[in-house]
Amino acid sequence: MSAQSRLEDRFETHQHDVLVIGAGGAGLRAAIEALAQGVSVGVVSKSLLGKAHTVMAEGGIAAAMSNVDSADGWKPHFRDTMRGGKMLNNWRMAQLHAQEAPERVRELEQWGAIFDRTADGNILQRAFGGHTYKRLCHVGDRTGLEMIRTLQDRGVQQGFDVYMECTIVRLLTEGDRCVGAIGYWREQGRFVVFKANSVVMATGGIGKAWPITSNSWEYTGDGMALAYEAGAELMDLEFVQFHPTGMVWPPGVQGLLVTEAVRGEGGILRNKLGERFMEKYDPKRMELSTRDVVARSIYIEVKEGRGTEHGGAYLDISHQPAEYVKKKLPSMYHQFKELADVDITKGPMEVGPTCHYVMGGIRVEAETAQSTLPGLFAAGECAAGLHGANRLGGNSLSDLLVFGRRAGLAAAKHAKEVSAANVDPTQIDAAEEYALAAFQRPRGENPYAIHRDLQTTMQSLVGIFRVRGDVERALLELEKLNERWTQTSVEGSRMFNPGWHMALDLKSMLTISEAVARSALVREESRGAHSRIDFPELSAEWGTKNNIIKRAASGMTLRQDVKPAMPTDLQQVLAEDQG
Ligand code: FAD
Repeated sequence: MSAQSRLEDRFETHQHDVLVIGAGGAGLRAAIEALAQGVSVGVVSKSLLGKAHTVMAEGGIAAAMSNVDSADGWKPHFRDTMRGGKMLNNWRMAQLHAQEAPERVRELEQWGAIFDRTADGNILQRAFGGHTYKRLCHVGDRTGLEMIRTLQDRGVQQGFDVYMECTIVRLLTEGDRCVGAIGYWREQGRFVVFKANSVVMATGGIGKAWPITSNSWEYTGDGMALAYEAGAELMDLEFVQFHPTGMVWPPGVQGLLVTEAVRGEGGILRNKLGERFMEKYDPKRMELSTRDVVARSIYIEVKEGRGTEHGGAYLDISHQPAEYVKKKLPSMYHQFKELADVDITKGPMEVGPTCHYVMGGIRVEAETAQSTLPGLFAAGECAAGLHGANRLGGNSLSDLLVFGRRAGLAAAKHAKEVSAANVDPTQIDAAEEYALAAFQRPRGENPYAIHRDLQTTMQSLVGIFRVRGDVERALLELEKLNERWTQTSVEGSRMFNPGWHMALDLKSMLTISEAVARSALVREESRGAHSRIDFPELSAEWGTKNNIIKRAASGMTLRQDVKPAMPTDLQQVLAEDQG
């Protein structure tokens, strides 16, 4: 009997030309594109289909459609994205993104998405921080829901296979190429093997490593950790975005997002003295400054004693007509009414920074979204490059569409070109041993306790402001937490066992948190979302470098690669003030 047939006897096994891990906007868009190329596609998701982060997106999709401001175009969008990212962005990704986003939005509309409209029937666009023009295509403050509904309908109609509530724990490799993945059904605890010629990673971010976050339980950095373990490079993980406005009260909902659309629709920030403090920090853009600037401004106001009762700032939209607020911000209206007993049409909200997004992630090539591991592609929040040191609001949803499509296209092409994948059974055995180890240890460490300590470490030592001594302490703490992780134990059976799920998710969070801390330690400057108290200025030298993380036999390695120089035509675009 061959090794392959023995494998299929032991495990439920599926084979696809392209396997997409993650069913958010990036994964679904990649799957749709791969299907359109005539290959077979499987989509795996650790939550239910339709429950990814993309569904939570509120404010909108940034695309220079020029429906509201006719002066907009790809060049201003490119400039804003590069300036917002403090020039660390992969300029080719920023160019492709700005050029292709409008077409991707129109396509979404053709597939059935219903956007808010201008009086003459075009897609309505709203203002957002760091965008020169009104650029965000939206559906009230429920844009992500409409986007995911549309992509899901399209994909299911076209015929991809969906594997829901299935967590991938290891990628499979053959030589230096990625050939599939192994995961387990969360409900039953049984393992399942996926063979594939190409794999697209679309698993989102890492917010759950911080306690105050807008992210849900799914954001544990799995995709980045899986790619890292399989030998792919990660890039620029020091850039973690703290969104300026999360709920601060009541405690049970701390961190829940208050969309930037509130400020886009005219919301004003004040401290407890009633001062409109953004006048001090960014008098030109005020509340619509970039997220890194607004988050730091609120943080400083609170730290210097001008915070609100519950340690935040006031955000007020009540000067707008009540009906307008309810129409443009229906989710925010209900969120505050139901969770905090505050009527935002009558009074201010209390808000404060919340861990929201990671700009760093899997290093990819701009045109194809291929990682440094052949056969592995990555798109969406788990991929690095487009947003540089700080993402502009709305640029994630457009990123998912532009690079999700590109990843699906390139993954399908790659799948057609390479020979059929062979899976090495010893890798399956190793993955199984790794995943089940916590069941073998009686009375070990509780994974939830380690998670809590990880969150405390990241919040207090690798948060909005960083300093050498703190980050060094964080690395020592992470070493201890990693050691404790090897002693975790879980009780009960493998059937829907949350402690077991947490133990596995925790390993991903520990790996990526270490990458964040290592990268934050060496970048001796302040740029975008990375603020060093001991190095408060931009450094010209660091502006040319990306931090690259890679796994070696000795452990995690970090090096700096010099960014390729920007071609002169794009330099000229940057130098122009008007599009
Ligand atoms: P996701 O949509 O999160 O999908 C990740 C998928 O991967 C999920 O299906 C998950 O189950 C799966 N997965 C993860 N790990 C595994 C594993 N190990 N095995 C199998 N499956 C796995 N951006 C904007 O541009 N505009 C906005 O208005 C906006 N509003 C936002 C509001 C909120 C509250 C939040 C949290 C984010 C918002 N963002 C917004 C950011 C944006 O929504 C996300 O960056 C984006 O949706 C990420 O999409 P994704 O496809 O990369 O990942």
